[in-house]
Amino acid sequence: DTLLTVTNLKKVYESSTGSVEAIGDISITMRRGELVCIVGPSGCGKTTLLKCIAGLLSPTAGVIELDGARVTAPPPNMALVFQEYGRSLYPWLTVRGNVELPLRHRGLSRAERDRLVDDALTAVGLEHAGKSYPWQLSGGMQQRVAIARAVAYQPEVLIMDEPFAAVDAQTRADLEDLVRRLHLERGMSILFVTHDIDESVYLGERVVVLSKSPTWVQEDLVIDLAPE
Ligand code: ADP
Ligand code: ADP
Repeated sequence: DTLLTVTNLKKVYESSTGSVEAIGDISITMRRGELVCIVGPSGCGKTTLLKCIAGLLSPTAGVIELDGARVTAPPPNMALVFQEYGRSLYPWLTVRGNVELPLRHRGLSRAERDRLVDDALTAVGLEHAGKSYPWQLSGGMQQRVAIARAVAYQPEVLIMDEPFAAVDAQTRADLEDLVRRLHLERGMSILFVTHDIDESVYLGERVVVLSKSPTWVQEDLVIDLAPE
């Protein structure tokens, strides 16, 4: 059951100083329920690739399809978690308020929204932090809030762009385990981007390795991820 396909994607940035080929030729297929890591060094085009998949940037060539529909604008059935967690949370809303925000326009009852928020906060281990404000929490806990918001939203695919690059090693290990559990226990489809090969091999069932030098290389690895 195919969820996401990226076919012969190419992106060239044009500017007054010349053109930069950010993505040469990338093809990726992701099935529903998979956890796929994309790994590669800084500058190999990871952020550009994600912006194209998220419908924020038009590719120079190639096609992206999510759930059978061509992506030409930000798809409603996708959630994003970025490295800069602090910037994605509203400081004037509590943790609950932040997690609930994207559910507001769905025509859900108050009880149904509460249920989804409670479930998401429990999933990330923040069931007691609902009344706190983001700025009262550590960076790692703020990132948990961002993840809870994505869980409550119930997207077809969760996209994470270097989400743990700014937290300390122990917090990062805890958050990696959280992502693993969301995938194994809830069957979430997750596309996880990192420059850290160890992180990609630890997390991914499939790892797509991108490299730009000397020429464009894409290599797909299959990791045997045995549930614990
Ligand atoms: P990564 O996320 O892997 O670090 P990026 O997608 O950010 O890679 O960048 C890939 C290449 O494209 C780099 O050479 C970068 O300098 C260039 N690039 C990224 N964004 C732009 C832009 N808006 N204009 C011009 N060049 C860009
Ligand atoms: P990353 O976190 O992937 O390394 P950067 O910090 O390099 O990303 O880039 C931050 C922002 O600047 C991105 O929106 C990217 O598209 C843009 N950018 C990166 N390189 C260039 C460039 N050479 N020219 C213009 N914009 C760029």
